[in-house]
Amino acid sequence: MTFDERALRVPGPVIELARTLQDAGFPTWCVGGAVRDALLGLPLLDWDLATAATPAEVRRLFRRTIPVGIEFGTVGVLDRDGRMHEVTTFRRDVQTDGRHAVVEFGASLDQDLARRDFTINAIAFDPIARRLHDPFAGREDLVAGVVRAVGVAEERMREDRLRALRAIRFASRFGFSIDADTWQAIRSSASHLTRLSPERVKQEIDKTLDQVEAPSQAFGRWRDAGAFAAVVPALRDVSDDTLAAIDRLPRPGAVTRPLRRSLRLAALFSELEGKEAERALKALRASNQEIGVVGIVVDRWRRFGAELTAQLTSGGLPGDPALRRMAADIGRLRVNAFLRLGAALWAGDTRIAPAVVRQLFRRLMRIAFRDPIEVADLAVDGDDLRQHGLRAGPELGRVLQKLRQLVIDDPARNTRDELLRLAADLVASPSGAEEQAGS
Ligand code: ATP
Ligand code: MG
Repeated sequence: MTFDERALRVPGPVIELARTLQDAGFPTWCVGGAVRDALLGLPLLDWDLATAATPAEVRRLFRRTIPVGIEFGTVGVLDRDGRMHEVTTFRRDVQTDGRHAVVEFGASLDQDLARRDFTINAIAFDPIARRLHDPFAGREDLVAGVVRAVGVAEERMREDRLRALRAIRFASRFGFSIDADTWQAIRSSASHLTRLSPERVKQEIDKTLDQVEAPSQAFGRWRDAGAFAAVVPALRDVSDDTLAAIDRLPRPGAVTRPLRRSLRLAALFSELEGKEAERALKALRASNQEIGVVGIVVDRWRRFGAELTAQLTSGGLPGDPALRRMAADIGRLRVNAFLRLGAALWAGDTRIAPAVVRQLFRRLMRIAFRDPIEVADLAVDGDDLRQHGLRAGPELGRVLQKLRQLVIDDPARNTRDELLRLAADLVASPSGAEEQAGS
């Protein structure tokens, strides 16, 4: 297989931007991910441009610009369709500390390409002359399917520790291997990954979950290289079976779907206690929303997973009262996520028949949405109880919770008369009614 310029279909509006810059005397090239992906035949690309023009010159040449990253030399330019493209001034690194690169403008295209991370990301294409410039033979690595550092791998990883994680992501995303020197450098850089900010690490995890169809290989490499030990110690010994479950959950895709990402995260953290997963995500600066969802799903998996697995292995399902208690504890709106995580994990367990998992799915979902499992489902509410003599306050809340438990055990009791009678009993002799609740 070979690649040639014909595979590079640069959209008209992007060619116009490049032409404006070139006509003003500034060499301008398409670079980076879009050139790589176009050569691989992938659709839907973000075309970025690299140019000899300074940010100020770029802003003078175009009417509609957005200063997205002026300090790094990047100006967002809106094309005639209102789509933004990043136009970045050629730069070279003058100093690095493994976290941030200090860049300098006034560099040549070759210097700009030399500071890029991998050969497959360092291919430039002139969309007007339709000419490729590929000083590091990135095309050969695309054909061979290899992720290889530009220059000396060890040095490049030292300059920016994130590159180790990026290499692993690109390899798994495209099904490429990692060049031996590059892999060696990744392994020896792992203990230094602690220098990365938690935000950058989390972003790499997210990009892996979003972009990579089957992330188990990538996270297996994080583990094997020692990256998890450095940046998410709780995952240092994560098992292959657990990682395989992530692959069975759908990718969030181009339009980010937060629940899908949370589910994949829950699978990644499913060997931990809910609280441990929450702590690890908090350390990675995950949003409270995400910590909440993942924490609950993981916690409930830890609470009910083993029991359910045992049942499913024997070919049966728990009875309705047990399933109702589970649904109530998981929460109606989380049952689906819980089951999807379970199904992804059970799919790797040869003792469990897929049909019995589907049966559980249907039963538990039906119970969660049909049966009374929440206080709001009770045939009485706080007002009813007050009208029948209960005082407002904590006692009222406790009575409602006890009624909920009684109804979860026996939904037939969820009638107004029965609940008012039970409430009166509860108030008259709280302990006696409690015994009833347990019966
Ligand atoms: P993606 O599809 O994930 O966006 P990409 O290759 O476009 O892939 P970006 O993170 O958008 O990746 O970066 C754009 C380009 O900038 C890369 O192709 C690479 O040439 C360069 N680059 C990005 N991050 C680094 C880095 N840490 N070190 C060196 N070069 C980098
Ligand atoms: Mg990109």
